[in-house]
Amino acid sequence: MHELSVTKSILNICENEAAVGNFKKINKINLCVGEITGLVPDCINYYFNIISKGTIAEDAVINIKKINLKINCLDCKYEGVMEKREYLCPNCNGRNFKILNGKEFYLESIEVD
Ligand SMILES: [Zn+2]
Repeated sequence: MHELSVTKSILNICENEAAVGNFKKINKINLCVGEITGLVPDCINYYFNIISKGTIAEDAVINIKKINLKINCLDCKYEGVMEKREYLCPNCNGRNFKILNGKEFYLESIEVD
């Protein structure tokens, strides 16, 4: 995924919300970003500063909550956090698992005036 297109879609959502809710200004944007989305928070911040100029979300603070990678192992039934680097079930070292969390990316909430 590319940060620029992702950041644009965040701004779009914010502007739509602002239009619907008749907000004057967006102060804070709370995002949730999964560990394995590959999205870099610093890049999102960087692009947002540029593309939000002159919009209702100019100067908004972006707060990014990281979501850890969690799996459900189909072999040993382990359910919990997995180290991204290893990509193996921490309990049985198997690779036969389902990813529960870590792939998500969404706008959790915005704070407005
Ligand atoms: Zn396992």
